[in-house]
Amino acid sequence: MSSDRYPMLQESLAGFIPPERLITDPLRLLAWGTDASFYRLIPRLAVVVESEDDVVRLLAECGRHATPITFRAAGTSLSGQAVTDSVLMLLGDTWRRCEVGPGAATITLQPGVVGGIANRHLARFGRKIGPDPASIDAAMIGGIAANNASGMCCGTAQNSYRTLAGLRVVLADGTVLDTRDAGSREAFVARRPDLVRDLDALGAATRDNEALAARIRHKFRMKNTTGYSLNALVDFTDSVDILAHLMIGSEGTLGFISEITYATVPEHAHKASALILFDDLETACNAVTALKSTPVAAVELADRAALRSVENKPGLPDALRAVGPNGAALLVETRAANGETLAEQVRAIEAMLAGIPTFGPVRFSTEPEECARFWNVRKGMFPSVGAMRRAGTTVIIEDVAFPVPRLAEATLDLQRLLAAHGYREAIIFGHALEGNLHFVFTQDFNTAAEVERYRGFMAALCTMVVAVYDGSLKAEHGTGRNMAPFVEMEWGKEAYALMQAVKRLFDPNGLLNPGVILNADPDAHVKHLKPLPACDPIVDKCIECGFCEVKCPSHRLTLSPRQRIVGARELARLAAGGGDAPYLAELQRLYAYQGIDTCAACGLCATACPVGIETGILIKALRGRRASPIAQRVAGFAADHYGAVTAGVRAGLATANALHGLVGTSVMKRSLDGLRKLSGGRLPKWSPALARPVHFTPGPRPALPEGADRIVCFPSCAARNMGAQRGHEVAASLPVTAERLFAKAGFAVTYPDRLDELCCGQPFESKGLAATADRKSAELEGALHAASDGGRRPVVFDTSPCAYRMKRYLNGRLPILDSIEFIDQHVLPRVAIEPVAGPVAIHPVCSVRKMGTVDRLLAIANCCSPEVVTIDAVLCCGFAGDKGFTRPELNEHALRHLKPALPPHCATGYSTSRTCEIGLAEQAGFPYHSIIYLVDACASARPAGKETVT
Ligand SMILES: Cc1cc2nc3c(=O)[nH]c(=O)nc-3n(C[C@H](O)[C@H](O)[C@H](O)COP(=O)(O)OP(=O)(O)OC[C@H]3O[C@@H](n4cnc5c(N)ncnc54)[C@H](O)[C@@H]3O)c2cc1C
Ligand code: SF4
Ligand code: SF4
Repeated sequence: MSSDRYPMLQESLAGFIPPERLITDPLRLLAWGTDASFYRLIPRLAVVVESEDDVVRLLAECGRHATPITFRAAGTSLSGQAVTDSVLMLLGDTWRRCEVGPGAATITLQPGVVGGIANRHLARFGRKIGPDPASIDAAMIGGIAANNASGMCCGTAQNSYRTLAGLRVVLADGTVLDTRDAGSREAFVARRPDLVRDLDALGAATRDNEALAARIRHKFRMKNTTGYSLNALVDFTDSVDILAHLMIGSEGTLGFISEITYATVPEHAHKASALILFDDLETACNAVTALKSTPVAAVELADRAALRSVENKPGLPDALRAVGPNGAALLVETRAANGETLAEQVRAIEAMLAGIPTFGPVRFSTEPEECARFWNVRKGMFPSVGAMRRAGTTVIIEDVAFPVPRLAEATLDLQRLLAAHGYREAIIFGHALEGNLHFVFTQDFNTAAEVERYRGFMAALCTMVVAVYDGSLKAEHGTGRNMAPFVEMEWGKEAYALMQAVKRLFDPNGLLNPGVILNADPDAHVKHLKPLPACDPIVDKCIECGFCEVKCPSHRLTLSPRQRIVGARELARLAAGGGDAPYLAELQRLYAYQGIDTCAACGLCATACPVGIETGILIKALRGRRASPIAQRVAGFAADHYGAVTAGVRAGLATANALHGLVGTSVMKRSLDGLRKLSGGRLPKWSPALARPVHFTPGPRPALPEGADRIVCFPSCAARNMGAQRGHEVAASLPVTAERLFAKAGFAVTYPDRLDELCCGQPFESKGLAATADRKSAELEGALHAASDGGRRPVVFDTSPCAYRMKRYLNGRLPILDSIEFIDQHVLPRVAIEPVAGPVAIHPVCSVRKMGTVDRLLAIANCCSPEVVTIDAVLCCGFAGDKGFTRPELNEHALRHLKPALPPHCATGYSTSRTCEIGLAEQAGFPYHSIIYLVDACASARPAGKETVT
């Protein structure tokens, strides 16, 4: 295909896709085009679709221009099925509808819903979706269905294929079929009689071919995602049902799933887990066979190497380290609707294991924390290899299945094979109940010899799995490009020809994700390998899994954390001489904005990263490295004259406030927006939610009330200098309000000396000026140390980001409490609360999420209001200190889901960071204040029942 088709295609698409949804810049094409696999293809064009009509028209245009297209959900695929060097189609915001059916027996989902969110909707009904990939908190329904993904519990009974209740699909020619709607089925039969006829014929011929039909049934008794879901041709006779089930596991090569209805499965609340150790792998595998007939929900096997990779993690039994060199473990879980049934099940399992020798006793736990520890350790096995690998190498996770009765010999064979090919660090674990083993190893793709080693290993592996065990080459992760050359080997000629026939029926021109599932190139699995050059120790362990993307406020505005790392790696590769200078310069220019300027440095990415990377740290380091010596000196001067700087801020706020009062909101906004535009974005943005100036300086301390407990308060610079927004005045500044509230609880407040000059350092840290930030922190430490009598009194911060920074900086040297902790622990027990009447919106800022105090914030709010509203889709507000003024698009993007999700009768919001509150207020259309104001409004002194602060 000639490459000049892309400009023509782009021109056609511009007729119905707005420019901001047609991505052509090289940085986003590279970064948005990346998935979790070790394959690298860079799309020529990325298109964000917002409706089914967009998809129909996009497919038509791709057809007209004979241009291949690949669909993308969350891009967590491991086998290379979500990458392309042609058109990449991405889902915009409008694909996230989620409807729970009557009695929660079904759930209807658009393809952009994250699997974990679907489960959150079902949780209160004690239900969940069947498919349960380990990536469920990042992966989206479109990808889960199109990969027929599965995990620890779902086996072959609860995957997308088995729990499909119906779907809506767009075929390559634009035909839309809704298999749940009789009218749509009829219309489909009328519009595509050829496809109906051919599917009927293919189904009948397959069912009539007894040997082939038996082989298909046999192969799907095991977990299997190699090739197409041929079982659709033997399990169903109606062509529409066949089509619907062929779509499952088709990896975007047969059509686009625009909606899906799943039958849900029970999510039992009562669970018990046991970590059972064995002296040798054979005994562990024999136990798996025995456990098959017991009421177990999951049985996970780990070989000795896998145990070794996690045995020093906290909270694990010492026996783990003591088990011998050939040892193994099973992690077993059983679930029931009530405690009695659970106890019976545990007894049944223990009875079954009684005759099997174990290393130490079998002990089930129902303690949620202990069970969570076991399962987190199991989940940490893959990342642990990723985290230990050498920079520049790739971590590979493979995914095969063997017949369960032969699991022991297969696992030992696998161990021998890995060792024979030099993968000595490899670990093996997996869903033993299904014979599904994952093995993880590190691979260098930087030399031809290493690529050859991988090729040799794959050939030997496939021969072993297929010829010796008749197993599956891909049990869960999909065929992709990685197993495409081996599909025929696994299935045989006849079944392979059937798959080719299926593909021809749906996609006669071969434009839907070509090269995936079926690929005539025997070397497809060793082509287009992704370079992973070392770029910075902060992020070198990144496995590009994409788990962090859902957390990131700039995802899809510019880059996600994964995409920032992809960009940084490419810049490192090019800078090391791997590319042409103009391309490098262009990427650097784009990265300055997309990568560096629009990161909120919120650190939320770290909360989802399996290898513990906080991409914001890299970005802050890059900011620091690009800061000119003059900028560094200016920052140093500001730090040394902090009182004067904050006085300047107050003067600016006062001027803005006076002007606002004079000309009104709309004139002010129009003029300042215009000026900002004229300045090319150099003037900061003005917001009607901007704070009015206040200046808090502690007055003389009154004599201590009798019996009062003394605490030290540290009002942040924002709290000391920023009041409420114009038109929404609250009675007093935040420090004054906090002092009044704390007094009601019997606490007398003192402040550190020279308050005007103090700052925790956060504003400098977020700009990458780490040394200046630490200098301010040290200065604050000294002042707090003195004020708290060497840490004998608690120190309360009114602003969560500052509390978070100082907690990390001080590392326990002083007793710092964020206002949430102090109110929850010490104020609420001492005051009487009269809740306010209306609903309140609560926004836990990023530092609250990182400190793990979201629940405590919500508990406080629940005491103070009968209706507490939190918006799941909103995490970081993107205001990021002052970015809301300099990069307001980040705040707008981060909070784009806020207003539509807020109930119309909600008119007040609360949080714990003044600058975040400005951004929240602007986007919500009503003011946000500190939670301290809410508690103060509800609290009155209650003399009895005091307790002492420790
Ligand atoms: C650390 C890690 C652990 C994992 N664990 C598991 C696991 O336990 N089990 C498991 O099965 N997988 C696992 N995976 C693989 C992967 O996460 C899952 O297969 C997941 O379901 C893919 O979903 P996605 O939204 O990322 O899809 P994507 O990767 O974006 O797409 C997957 C495929 O679906 C196609 N597609 C996407 N949307 C549509 C649509 N609407 N219509 C038609 N085709 C579409 C794409 O073209 C692509 O071929 C893991 C991955 C990682 C990185
Ligand atoms: S930063 Fe962490 S979560 Fe994000 S892609 Fe890399 S490894 Fe995955
Ligand atoms: S620090 Fe925040 S904004 Fe920056 S990459 Fe991480 S999640 Fe995204």
